Amino acid sequence: MSTKEDQREAYYWLKARGLCTMCRCAKAEPGKTKCAACRVKYNAWQITRRERLKAKGLCDRCGREIPEPGRAICQKCSAVAAESMRRRRAMKETEVRT
Ligand SMILES: [Zn+2]
Ligand SMILES: [Zn+2]
Repeated sequence: MSTKEDQREAYYWLKARGLCTMCRCAKAEPGKTKCAACRVKYNAWQITRRERLKAKGLCDRCGREIPEPGRAICQKCSAVAAESMRRRRAMKETEVRT
């Protein structure tokens, strides 16, 4: 069984060891979480996924909600994105300070 918790744990475990989080055996590219082969595969998958969602008129992120006209992601997802951006920026600031 693979729960979300397990997946997250595996992700961090692999990341900490510099291994690809997709195939879990190849070495990840420096500063990345995937190996070169998986990055290509992942990007291709992202593009097809995005196109499929766009064709359906669904949110680019969650694939469930309908975004506002002219936007790629729904309100809920843009709120989450803004929040994580803010958190990342705050984290960077503390890094600089210490
Ligand atoms: Zn890989
Ligand atoms: Zn969404």
